[in-house]
Amino acid sequence: MLTISIDHSETADYIYQQIYQHVKAAVLKRSLMPHTKVPSKRELAETLKVSVNSVNSAYQQLLSEGYLYAVERKGFFVEEIDTFYHEEAPSLLLPDDLREREPDKSGWISFSHMSVDTAHFPLKSWFRCEQKAAARSFHTLGELVHPQGLYEVRETISRLISLTRGVTCRPEQIVLGAGTQMLMQLLTELLPKDALYAMENPGYMRMYRLLQNLGKKTATVSLDEKGMSMAEIEKQRPCVLITTPSHQFPSGVIMPASRRIQLLNWAAEQDGRFIIEDDYDSEFKYDADTIPALQSLDRFQNVIYMGTFSKSLFPGLRISYMVLPPGLLRAFKERTYDLHTCSTLGQLALKEFIDSGEYQKHIKKMKQHYKNMRERLISALEETFGERINVKGANAGLHFVIEFDCPRSEKEILARADAEQLDLFAMSRFRLKAGGESNKPQLILGFARLKEKEIQEGVTRLYRAVFGA
Ligand SMILES: *Cc1c(COP(=O)(O)O)cnc(C)c1O
Repeated sequence: MLTISIDHSETADYIYQQIYQHVKAAVLKRSLMPHTKVPSKRELAETLKVSVNSVNSAYQQLLSEGYLYAVERKGFFVEEIDTFYHEEAPSLLLPDDLREREPDKSGWISFSHMSVDTAHFPLKSWFRCEQKAAARSFHTLGELVHPQGLYEVRETISRLISLTRGVTCRPEQIVLGAGTQMLMQLLTELLPKDALYAMENPGYMRMYRLLQNLGKKTATVSLDEKGMSMAEIEKQRPCVLITTPSHQFPSGVIMPASRRIQLLNWAAEQDGRFIIEDDYDSEFKYDADTIPALQSLDRFQNVIYMGTFSKSLFPGLRISYMVLPPGLLRAFKERTYDLHTCSTLGQLALKEFIDSGEYQKHIKKMKQHYKNMRERLISALEETFGERINVKGANAGLHFVIEFDCPRSEKEILARADAEQLDLFAMSRFRLKAGGESNKPQLILGFARLKEKEIQEGVTRLYRAVFGA
């Protein structure tokens, strides 16, 4: 029998919801047995003194969810539903270790190499570009665009990197993606399954972990003063090299032409060898002009160029790209990936931002700003640390490396930096494999997130973390 007490108070659920909840619970508990007839809408409405409409809505919902079924001219019946195995449902609460808590970072100073201070970003111009582009191309937002990204956007990017990085490519070769790792994952599917990937050590740990998580064979190559060691490459016999020639991550070494040509010759020596050039912060070079990309010297199309707007604009944009040589482009097209990972609105805004000259204006401004920040940070470090500090890899990019004569380990320094509320990374985090460590602690200092007025305080805290009592 259906005995429902309807709550007519103001805070109660709608009447149809109360009926629905009640019948559903009765069916699940089997207080209404399968295939029994439930009262007709009119009967139930009369018993409960509610409108037929309310009962109708409840029954419609129960029908569509499969708790009731209707038989023509006979009425509504209870559906046969398995009971749950366990009377007691397990707790739906997330286990504590999976719960997220936003750390409170107010009062912290950031030397992160992955973040930028958005205060310098010309947000108004960006919105203007977005608005203009969206108004002009709004129709494209109503559908999924080309899986490599909008052609017109790739055209703009190909012009930009030809101009700024000497990269020669057609828009057809560009694949946009939400981050370098996303693109790397795609790329691994185009390369032979058992390919051995060699990475610079120390290097970009996120990329190394990604390859390992994908089950790829990996090797590490240590660095000499010019970059990846040729002798080690010969010894390891990889099929793919991943390198950051413009500003080695994290050591900051700029690969000279001699080593670049050695790498290209290595790749050209045998079929199926590739070099992945991760050109993540090349827009910023301080003492002279930027050095063209490795890809620009490549005559045999063995280089896969990877670029990103995460450092030049902001990481939250999530627009990165790769340039595929024709052979890999064919493989890409044959696999018909349909991932669409980059927002079309973001792509359109970016295109307008570049085409209108705002992008180059921003880079020019930021280059000056970063140059200034880098100089002020280095002089504050030298003033505070005196002879006890050595600065390396500071001629390009958004971070450099400092090392000290100090008995404390990197781990100890990081723990003390944490207590000083400093966001900071040590070299140990980027050692893909043990070996070749410097006996001096080394830290990576990023200055793109740092504010000018935080420099002195940041360096003072850093000094306390390294040498303080
Ligand atoms: C920031 C950075 C990138 C770019 O990362 P996205 O995923 O494109 O945001 C790539 N490589 C290195 C070494 C970086 O520091």
